[in-house]
Amino acid sequence: MTESTFMKNLEKYAQLIVEVGVNVQKGHTIVLSIAVDQAPLARLITKKAYELGAAEVVLQWTDDKINKEFFLHAAEDRLTDIPQYIVDRGDDWIAKGASRISVVSSSPDALAGTDTDRVAKYQAASGKALKNIRQATQANKISWTVVAAAGEDWAQKVFPELSAEDAQAKLWDEIFKTTRVYSDDPVAAWKAHDEKLASKAAELNKEQFTALHYTAPGTDITIGLPKNHLWEGAGSFNSRNEKFMANMPTEEVFTAPDSRRVDGVISSTKPLSYAGNIISGMKFTFKDGKVVEFSAAEGQDVLAKLLDTDEGAKHLGEVALVPDPSPISQSGIIFFNTLFDENASNHLAFGSAYAFNLQGGTEMTEEELDAAGLNRSHTHVDFMVGSDQMNIDGIKADGTLVPVFRNGDWA
Ligand code: ZN
Ligand code: ZN
Repeated sequence: MTESTFMKNLEKYAQLIVEVGVNVQKGHTIVLSIAVDQAPLARLITKKAYELGAAEVVLQWTDDKINKEFFLHAAEDRLTDIPQYIVDRGDDWIAKGASRISVVSSSPDALAGTDTDRVAKYQAASGKALKNIRQATQANKISWTVVAAAGEDWAQKVFPELSAEDAQAKLWDEIFKTTRVYSDDPVAAWKAHDEKLASKAAELNKEQFTALHYTAPGTDITIGLPKNHLWEGAGSFNSRNEKFMANMPTEEVFTAPDSRRVDGVISSTKPLSYAGNIISGMKFTFKDGKVVEFSAAEGQDVLAKLLDTDEGAKHLGEVALVPDPSPISQSGIIFFNTLFDENASNHLAFGSAYAFNLQGGTEMTEEELDAAGLNRSHTHVDFMVGSDQMNIDGIKADGTLVPVFRNGDWA
């Protein structure tokens, strides 16, 4: 890619982020969080957002190296003392119905060498202080999108055999490919993609399967689905009923399993990057929803810790269908980044389920969600199980079987 071709693609990408990602409308406030080394993209996003009529674009620069210095050296009390103006700022964004654009570009081991206790302390304190804005985001009250940019360290982690420059160019190429930037009209391509996922979700919602039966080499498992579960595609709506795309790329259609009705054996098909470690070759035996036996070719200890996080960590909280011919899967690359890796394959998650995957779920209490079979947990970790050899049948209430997946693709 020449420099001018790259800038042209970057501009198409920025347009896609503002138009499809957060769907900027006249008068919107946009909060953009992005790393300083991605300044060219930040400028383009800002320009495009104003072109679409944004009232204001608020920029939040981040830098992994400065962030690391903070965790290494900042005074202990500054890790937990989150000033009131940070809380007020979040509340102001909610009041304005601001849209949030988060551009992720960090290496998965950006904080390697820092004291994990100090990081955890800060995360707990800022998590508490930013509760309102986080909840407004997770409940889709405001529009939000998470997109990627090819950070140098991250690129080097994904393509260690390449030079720093080539690795970064290659990672950009993959980002543009998987977000459909290379198509003539990426916005139109996304609308078509969104409609396809939404119609798949609608089909599955109509079926209301009581369970899914998965078979593949090393896998034979039945996963119960709760009554009134909802499959969701890529697009979401904010409280003003404006559409937005929470993740780009995204290839999944997903719902919540009944965390008490999972029985059988399932094997992972791709390695998992968790807490800075790699876990691969996982195999799980489930009984009545709970993992009763497990093994991993690599990272068994880390896996044991993950499953021990809390009671919910041994139960499932997400069932996601991603066809094997999807562009991310076909790339064969391990990105060490959930935004990409979870969209490469059929996956499941240990830990909490999304309330919006149940009819009326967002209005329910934690106890009501639990009673409906939706897993409650402090963790949510996706792991990949799909392959071109996977078949899935839907089981109807009367016992009828309906083919859902054949050889890794929609039946
Ligand atoms: Zn997912
Ligand atoms: Zn997930």
